[in-house]
Amino acid sequence: MPQQAISNMIKYDLHTHSTASDGTLTPTELVQRAKEKRVDVLALTDHDTIAGIEEAITAASLHRIALIPGVEISSQWQNTGIHVIGLDINIQSNELLTQLQQLQTLRVTRAKEIGRRLAKAGIPDAYQGALQYTREENLTRTHFARFLVAQGKADSISRVFKHYLVPGKPGYVKTEWPELGEVVQWIKDASGIAIIAHPARYKLTASKMRRLLQDFKNYGGTGIEVAHGNCNPDDTAKNIKFAETFELRASIGSDFHDPDTPWNELGRLPRLPGHLPTVWDKPISS
Ligand code: AMP
Ligand code: MN
Ligand code: MN
Ligand code: MN
Repeated sequence: MPQQAISNMIKYDLHTHSTASDGTLTPTELVQRAKEKRVDVLALTDHDTIAGIEEAITAASLHRIALIPGVEISSQWQNTGIHVIGLDINIQSNELLTQLQQLQTLRVTRAKEIGRRLAKAGIPDAYQGALQYTREENLTRTHFARFLVAQGKADSISRVFKHYLVPGKPGYVKTEWPELGEVVQWIKDASGIAIIAHPARYKLTASKMRRLLQDFKNYGGTGIEVAHGNCNPDDTAKNIKFAETFELRASIGSDFHDPDTPWNELGRLPRLPGHLPTVWDKPISS
């Protein structure tokens, strides 16, 4: 990854989505927008897939952006879903591709079940409906949410989640994601570094968060996303403390999905305190 010498001038965004998962911009459009937003180093981190990376690399070379091959992998730890960002992964790794392929299969099975449950709740054809919002048929709950908003079931994506797609609601399906330790190992085996995504979003108690981070560190995790789109300064301050306590390197990423959500805009991230070790300021293996 481009390193520290001029890091104060380098703008990083190490967590973004494209049409390869639940983003609305193609990898090419994403890179173009990153250029407009003056991002210098961009990681494309689609959910459980690297299908967009090659297109992004091509676009990035035209725009002179450094494109970090990445992925955001769904995992579970003690019954909590945890997202792990893998950066600087080898996209030729057959082992990683095989594991991600299995997650795609799991997503299809889950999506069909979500469709069945929504049908029982009086909303037919949601599986086919959600598919209309995908390019790569990599189905996420976001695609169902877009379909449900279009059907007039709620007036916003977040309301649709609240009423249909979270635990206890008609379209929620519990999913057996791979264990956190396994996912960290896949990333390491593909020569990448593993980063805990958006820690504040898991709503863990402080003691459970400490256990999560200790386990993550023991599995060989490298970093923690200390700032991300829609995260407040208190959360960032807490995350910085966690990074220091567990000697995890700091990462930042907008979690950009679409241009209509301004708080997740590309490159819209706070500057980190200068003393904080970051995922980009040291050789990855240390
Ligand atoms: P999935 O991986 O299929 O369970 O979908 C998770 C995705 O849904 C996340 O990456 C977010 O993009 C989106 N998401 C989850 N919860 C919400 C929410 N409350 N409002 C809007 N989007 C959400
Ligand atoms: Mn998403
Ligand atoms: Mn996530
Ligand atoms: Mn994300």
